[in-house]
Amino acid sequence: MLSRIAQRTTRTLTRSSPAASTSRAYASDAGYTGGPTFELTEEQASIRELARSFTANEIVPVAAEHDRTMKYPWEVIKKAHAEGLLNVHVPEEYGGAGLSVMSSSLVSEELAYGCTGIQTAIEANGLASAPVIIGGNDAQKRKYLGRLTEEPLMCAYGVSEPGAGSDVASITTKATLEGDKYVINGSKCWITNGGVANWYFVLAKTDPAGKPHKSLSGFIVDADTPGITVESKLINMGQRCSDTRIINFENVVVPKENLLGKEGDGFKIAMGAFDITRPLVASGAVGLAQRALAEAAKYAHERKTFGVPIIQHQAIGTMLAEMAIGVENSRNAVWRASCAKDANDPRTTYLASIAKAYASATAVANADKCVQIFGGAGYNTEYPAEKLYRDSKIFTLYEGTTQIQNLIISRVVANDYA
Ligand SMILES: Cc1cc2nc3c(=O)[nH]c(=O)nc-3n(C[C@H](O)[C@H](O)[C@H](O)COP(=O)(O)OP(=O)(O)OC[C@H]3O[C@@H](n4cnc5c(N)ncnc54)[C@H](O)[C@@H]3O)c2cc1C
Repeated sequence: MLSRIAQRTTRTLTRSSPAASTSRAYASDAGYTGGPTFELTEEQASIRELARSFTANEIVPVAAEHDRTMKYPWEVIKKAHAEGLLNVHVPEEYGGAGLSVMSSSLVSEELAYGCTGIQTAIEANGLASAPVIIGGNDAQKRKYLGRLTEEPLMCAYGVSEPGAGSDVASITTKATLEGDKYVINGSKCWITNGGVANWYFVLAKTDPAGKPHKSLSGFIVDADTPGITVESKLINMGQRCSDTRIINFENVVVPKENLLGKEGDGFKIAMGAFDITRPLVASGAVGLAQRALAEAAKYAHERKTFGVPIIQHQAIGTMLAEMAIGVENSRNAVWRASCAKDANDPRTTYLASIAKAYASATAVANADKCVQIFGGAGYNTEYPAEKLYRDSKIFTLYEGTTQIQNLIISRVVANDYA
């Protein structure tokens, strides 16, 4: 039974707030299986432990070298595949681990703790396979998801173009139906895993005269199809072992059976993928933020100034406290969004944007503070801080910039309080 204070609060809220009087603003009727809990199941704890020890043994020792050489981390990816840490959210019936988004987020955070360049290469498979999981038929899933689980193959998500990133509906790549085949022409830009992918998810315009959001269709395209050219690796500020490319499509013939869903479904499928992947990108940001905190705290114990370890200076302690607050709150936001997706909560997109915007800002802030706490050493490649600093920035850009997340969040807020 509600206490008298709770009863009074409920009445007050119902009278004064339009949001409280609608079920839209609260997700209590979505498919959650229990109340809020921060305790992991036994299975989740062991998945996290597996990812944690894999990171310690296979990623941390090679991360700096991969950053320096920019070499794609094939050897790590092959081992991750053997351990079952690749394609974790591919359903079991197609050979994957079939993990929930919540469990997948535990894996992403751990891998990102070791190196977000390597984690992004791994996570890009999740991004490219998400449209197939959402919009694919059984035969498409069996063929293309099955392929990923059988051997360590990569795939890539081809949506952004030189002229269109945030404004997805304005892409110009075209797919024209000719008999029982589509012919694709155009260019995709910034494609992670672009140079190593076995197949691509490609978003293209099938109805140039139609309404922008209804004129796009999604395709699975085998990477060895004639007419595809992959340009040289783009050299980025951070996450330098991840493979980012421009890909050109010139009269690329794709069988009609590789269309995902029906014509016009493409925008919905491409954006729907983000409900799965934005919590996972955000959990990568949490991994980086946690690493920055760990490195900074360890260094602050070791480094002495004015006769004491710098951790004893209040200004340093305050920075470490702010970093810890950021980590804990970001992780909470990630778990909230991940559980929302697993429960088919209608507010998943909103919660995923909150997690992505908040965790990416935390990653950037923590990496910045990490450099500051290291002092001059923070600016030097012999120490881990500068890599974290360079690697962190992309989290505010890819899979929707922070401004786009804020746009999504603000539309929901505007609607809630209309
Ligand atoms: C390393 C890397 C990897 C990537 N991997 C992939 C991938 O695998 N697949 C893929 O398809 N794409 C990928 N991208 C592309 C990425 O998703 C886009 O760069 C991103 O969505 C932003 O698009 P843009 O670069 O065209 O910036 P623009 O859309 O041109 O935006 C420029 C600026 O304007 C702001 N802005 C734009 N519109 C608005 C608005 N309405 N309101 C307020 N501000 C606005 C943006 O926030 C940004 O600050 C990757 C990018 C990078 C750098």
